[in-house]
Amino acid sequence: MKLEAILAELTEQTGNDAERLARDIAHYLFKTQGRTLAAPVEYLFEAVAWAVRDRVMPDWHATWQRLKRQPTRRLYYLSMEFLIGRSLAAIAFNLDLAEPLREALLVLGKEIEAIEEAERDAGLGNGGLGRLAACFLESAATLALPVMGYGLRYEYGMFRQAIRNGYQVEEPERWLRQPAFPWELERREYTRKIRFGGRTHHYIDPETGRFYVHWDHAEVVLAVPYDIPVPGYRNGVVNTLRLWSAQAPNEFNLDKFNEGDYFEAVDARIAAENLTLVLYPNDASVLGKELRLRQQYFLVAASLQDAVTQWLDHCGPEWHRFAELHCFQLNDTHPALAVAELMRILIDEHHFGWDEAWRLTTRVTAYTNHTLLPEALETWPGEMVRRILPRHWEIIVEIDRRFRFSIQLRWPDEPSRQERLAIVSSDRVRMAHLAVHGSFAVNGVSRLHTDLLVTTLFPDFAELSPGKFTAITNGVTPRRWLALCNPGLKTLLDEAVGSGWVTDLDRLTALLPLSQDAAFRERFAAVKRENKVKLAQQIAHEGGIKVDPAALFDVQVKRIHEYKRQLLNALHVIHLYDRIKHGETDGWTPRVVIFGGKAAPGYAFAKLIVKFLNNVAEVITKDPQTEGLLQVVFLPDYRVSAMEKIAPAADLSEQISTAGAEASGTGNMKLMMNGAITIGTYDGANIEILEAVGEAHFFRFGLLADEVQARRTDYDPIAIVQQDGALARVIGYLQREFFNPFEPGIFQPILDRLFSPNDPWLVLADFASYRAAQEAAAAHYRAPARWFESAVRNVAMSGRFSSDRTLIEYNQRIWHLAAIGEPARSAT
Ligand SMILES: *Cc1c(COP(=O)(O)O)cnc(C)c1O
Repeated sequence: MKLEAILAELTEQTGNDAERLARDIAHYLFKTQGRTLAAPVEYLFEAVAWAVRDRVMPDWHATWQRLKRQPTRRLYYLSMEFLIGRSLAAIAFNLDLAEPLREALLVLGKEIEAIEEAERDAGLGNGGLGRLAACFLESAATLALPVMGYGLRYEYGMFRQAIRNGYQVEEPERWLRQPAFPWELERREYTRKIRFGGRTHHYIDPETGRFYVHWDHAEVVLAVPYDIPVPGYRNGVVNTLRLWSAQAPNEFNLDKFNEGDYFEAVDARIAAENLTLVLYPNDASVLGKELRLRQQYFLVAASLQDAVTQWLDHCGPEWHRFAELHCFQLNDTHPALAVAELMRILIDEHHFGWDEAWRLTTRVTAYTNHTLLPEALETWPGEMVRRILPRHWEIIVEIDRRFRFSIQLRWPDEPSRQERLAIVSSDRVRMAHLAVHGSFAVNGVSRLHTDLLVTTLFPDFAELSPGKFTAITNGVTPRRWLALCNPGLKTLLDEAVGSGWVTDLDRLTALLPLSQDAAFRERFAAVKRENKVKLAQQIAHEGGIKVDPAALFDVQVKRIHEYKRQLLNALHVIHLYDRIKHGETDGWTPRVVIFGGKAAPGYAFAKLIVKFLNNVAEVITKDPQTEGLLQVVFLPDYRVSAMEKIAPAADLSEQISTAGAEASGTGNMKLMMNGAITIGTYDGANIEILEAVGEAHFFRFGLLADEVQARRTDYDPIAIVQQDGALARVIGYLQREFFNPFEPGIFQPILDRLFSPNDPWLVLADFASYRAAQEAAAAHYRAPARWFESAVRNVAMSGRFSSDRTLIEYNQRIWHLAAIGEPARSAT
């Protein structure tokens, strides 16, 4: 037999029909795992995943080959987080394997749903920022754009949240074990060496007269890549997410071993490998820990080395083409060291002059800002940078020195400008300034956020280079967040407007006339109802609480953070409870209020909010007077796979951040896409959702961003409570310790915060208008024709919030990539 024949037969055998899938699954189960169909579901999941993975390989390989054959401009998406969630259903869907897979499993007497449920979430991110990165990769593949993701392979991703006695308890999540993570391929052949510490030596080559710097590093850690395939939607494109794992180099171990110090050798190995052990679980705030700086450098150094080496291997040293063929997108400031690292590579390893190196660096780097919150703006102490990255410190100082000089030339009479714009100030490195200065494009993630970036965070930079800033509103992938997670709605939409919406979400506008059609609205309502029944079953299963699927499902799921104002929602819940206690229930709209979200383990106040929400839920749900009127649920361990069940079942989407604080939000988009109506402030992408659907189909309330700014100076919460009887009664519950009768005093910090004139989030300032908006929502819900008109309208207008649209904008304004092959088009 000839090799060609074997390869042909191999391809032939990997068919996408149910029969061959069933055979492969059985093969992996019996022959590889040595088990039977009676094996625990984890093993079945692995066998199924391997069978699916086999079917990804040919296109994955072909995509690599295509990129290798001809130099193609590529985008490298550098992100410390990729919040992937589960992959089996998503990959099967994009490969058009969902149906044959279901059939294959039926042949084996199994249900696909149970197997999908056995998969663990790959929780390599905190929240919105990490999930955005995952949506972007899927959209890029679907658009056939050559985009490669670079991230870290944390052994422990986001912690698992358990609730005990109302308190959040964090449990480590070993997402790579039981079942194993079947989607990665170790690529040891592309291992990179990453250096840390030591010192630099400067010298002049006596022959050439050139100035050289040698970095005499103290440590080496290996970066071993693990590749995860990212298939586009039925278009034959499979992009790659490459995650780096830290390993101690062998020789390092051996030296010590030979000297007889076995334990020191093992310690050193553990220290090196700790680098990618755990994801920092802080959302929108920084700790300034040394390990985090090391992680950031590890990601940047491994990824840049990888990109440069691949390119040198294929293209030779044609540096003039480097900028033409590469673009690095920094997902927030976390990978901003890329600016210094690329300068180092160019100057120290490839002997560029400074100006030439700077021109090249600033032609290939682009930066996305995700937040204006001061606690999230990273700065690193000079001492730490000098110790861990001595050469980068020198480079950053030189970038700063030259930058300061150019500012002085531009504004000779304004020395304060220099200080405001500086990259190094008071012996700290301002990562955002390094990122802005080192990038040719800077984008905010919604229109309002970008306006605020330009006017409040970076006004001097905007004056210096106004063309650099651009607004690109976030989006979410409609494959995962509509087609996959809401099969009932998918079927209805396919029938109503054809299936083309899956890759062209604007086509959903064809639903607009149907929002006026009673028969269609009823079918839509039936789908929503079915999804609510399913969520209700799950809530009953997990928490033992029975909720009524006919009630308004009022949902706030997101990280727990003061600026997101879960407290405001809780105050409204207490207000509803107070009305019930006073018999004020005429024309009542029954509600199920659902909370979900994790608090950063070190964020004490957010953890107290979790406890508060749980206590409020417990007291209200146990009170027999609330039966049929109000139920409050805290769903533990909010994560991607949880959102996939929550979004299809939500009626009301709570997006109630203090205006100016939420850069964009993407939870708001997922909920809108699934037919929830937003109750929200004029903040982030809420504004664009409101514009898309119209005022009549959005419950808007609260101060505007500029009013918030102005109000902070004369905020008087005591006066607000005195003037608002309903609010005073709500506060009374807290003062009487109604929700913590057995735990005296625990919620005092919440009262203190609410009453503080320095509460930056002005929770009480928006209470009255929030309450009015909630009443409007409740009234709307009592008129199903109106409610479902609005709900259908929300789905119809969600096209703008597809991450396909987002990526098309990135590509037109920043990346300028040519598609490799055909972008996906679903049948019409
Ligand atoms: C979408 C999503 C987020 C972001 O939610 P926001 O409401 O935009 O903060 C966070 N976590 C998970 C698991 C998500 O799916």
